[in-house]
Amino acid sequence: AQNGKGQEMPEWKKIASGKGAEMGKRTNMSMKDQRESLPAYKMRKQFLDAVRQYQLMIVVGDTGSGKTTQLTQYLAEDGYGSAGLMIGCTQPRRVAAMSVAARVSDEVGCRIGEEVGYTIRFEDKTSDRTRIKYMTDGIMQREILLDPELNKYSVIMLDEAHERTIATDVLFGLLKKTLKRRPDMKLIVTSATLDAEKFSSYFNECPILSIPGRTFPVEIMYSREPESDYLDAALTTVMQIHLTEPPGDILLFLTGKEEIDTSCEILFERMKALGPSVPELIILPIYGALPSEIASKIFDPSPTGARKVVIATNIAETSITIDGIYFVVDPGFVKQTAYDAKLGMDRLQVTPISQAQAKQRAGRAGRTGPGKCFRLYTENAFQNEMLPTTIPEIQRQNLANTILMLKAMGINDLLGFDFMDPPPTNTMLTALEELYALGALDDEGLLTRAGRRMADFPMEPSLAKSLIASVELGCSDEMLSIVAMISAVQTVFHRPKEKQQQADQKKTKFHDPAGDHLTLLNVYNGWKGAGKSDPWCFENFVQPRSMRRSEDVRKQLVQILERHRLRIVSCGRETVRVRQALCAGFFRNSARKDPTEGYKTLVEGTPVYMHPSSSLFGKGQAEHVVYHSLVETTREYMNNVTAIEPKWLVEAAPTFFKVAGGGGKMGGELSKRKREEVIKPLHNRFANGEDEWRLSA
Ligand code: ADP
Ligand code: MG
Repeated sequence: AQNGKGQEMPEWKKIASGKGAEMGKRTNMSMKDQRESLPAYKMRKQFLDAVRQYQLMIVVGDTGSGKTTQLTQYLAEDGYGSAGLMIGCTQPRRVAAMSVAARVSDEVGCRIGEEVGYTIRFEDKTSDRTRIKYMTDGIMQREILLDPELNKYSVIMLDEAHERTIATDVLFGLLKKTLKRRPDMKLIVTSATLDAEKFSSYFNECPILSIPGRTFPVEIMYSREPESDYLDAALTTVMQIHLTEPPGDILLFLTGKEEIDTSCEILFERMKALGPSVPELIILPIYGALPSEIASKIFDPSPTGARKVVIATNIAETSITIDGIYFVVDPGFVKQTAYDAKLGMDRLQVTPISQAQAKQRAGRAGRTGPGKCFRLYTENAFQNEMLPTTIPEIQRQNLANTILMLKAMGINDLLGFDFMDPPPTNTMLTALEELYALGALDDEGLLTRAGRRMADFPMEPSLAKSLIASVELGCSDEMLSIVAMISAVQTVFHRPKEKQQQADQKKTKFHDPAGDHLTLLNVYNGWKGAGKSDPWCFENFVQPRSMRRSEDVRKQLVQILERHRLRIVSCGRETVRVRQALCAGFFRNSARKDPTEGYKTLVEGTPVYMHPSSSLFGKGQAEHVVYHSLVETTREYMNNVTAIEPKWLVEAAPTFFKVAGGGGKMGGELSKRKREEVIKPLHNRFANGEDEWRLSA
């Protein structure tokens, strides 16, 4: 068969060069022509007229029609960026905010951070000159916390509203209020899908502007039988397309970084095995944590005779549009966060996509010409097993963060908040309980001083709590480094496939007997002691880039601590305090060694396991631990684990843990009614756990 393919080569190349010439023309198109060829351009005048006339409107249009990159520029060209005001545009994803800002600054002809900039958590690339600012919806939320009137902005564009992230959903309600206080401000809500009617009725029956699409038919192919291994099926399909289908790039949807990296390697190997007679396949990954230089490569047109395959998370579903895609491979899965009642916390899970997402994915193949979509599931599964639409995040995730933010904005009546789709009452109660246990809310459900402080740290409340607690425990210098490293990057360790053993060996040098948080601290101190040098990083299999980023985040956290007059103190060798401070924030994420195997969480008695990368792995000593998060692969693994003493948990959260003999400090202040209302369910749940764990000595 390979020989056969070899013989087909010239034909393939002929077609390819024909197409290449056409693509070349496209790339040689001037920036102006390119901009004017987008569907949004035809609506430019209508759009600007409507903005002038209405304070609020919805814009719908297919992905790739130019909503994100063009509408902001039209507004700037029409003067909305003058008088020191900005046009703000929110994106649900960091990578999208960065990549779109890069594209628009190219089109405008400036460097990023000048007229066009972006802000994402811990990274601000804007200046006084910035007129168009892209940002994550989370950043916009923080800005409203600081200035509810958003006086720096003339227009806000809530982009990708169909994604329905929690932050966007909350912004719906908050911005509605801001509009009342700022009659001169405009709000544009954009969506790629047909939710427009629903949006319009929520936003006071505001007008809807549709950008007519320019799409081609997409032929849908289903798997005949359910696939037992979707990854293998996906890679085989990609190879098949490459070897048998006419030219056109491929887009494959996978669920996350590991899966994507592995697939890139496997594809690369399979291509290599076929030898040089086969046309080139350019393999490009794209996911959230990818450095931006690599990410921008996905937009480069394939050279003549070659085909590219972009392997993406669902970021390529609507946020990012890649031109030239003719083939989509859709295994039908997405990784999303959902609240897991058994664990009492959010968990990243691989779940089937909805029908709406499947349609959206298929549509990506029909932007440049008629395309094909290979669905690696049966038609029956599509019709009968997939939900029609995706459940909005706000109805499936932990809301502690969001509620803390709303409380900090003075919004106390959560049940009365103007949600488009209100979260389940139970989810709100769980979040309130969690915030109460963290000491962020008092027994009346009002924000405490500590809670107000926690809201000012751009991170999950537990992490903020640990940092604040570390001040009193006299170890904030240490905790700062740890928190910075955890928030800034996924990992600081470099573990290349060919040198895993060597890398692991180097890592053990930093291992702390008390666990991973202190191991991170050892790395930080080692790096600092070596003058923050890159050679030290290479030598120790630590990523220099991650270290520098952590250092930058650390500096930003220092500023927040200083603003709150919280002292930065070192505990020296007494790192036991760091572990106590961790308990202050992560008492819910505690587990006890199971006599048979692994660990069991204290809250629900769910089995969890030590991650093999943990410094505590295989040591078998830590009886009690707290962990930062859970990662699911074949089973639930605890990630970033530290050994603790159970009594620290009670000290950290007396209202949360049942102590024989009763009442800790905070317990005494509780009104009886509230204790019954809020706390009892926790005690009950805890006492009902299968685990017979007792705190009483
Ligand atoms: P929408 O927001 O309506 O989905 P966009 O404004 O994101 O559409 O995209 C408009 C066009 O700009 C698309 O053809 C897309 O491929 C192109 N584009 C967007 N970002 C980049 C980039 N970083 N490099 C090259 N082209 C890009
Ligand atoms: Mg867009």
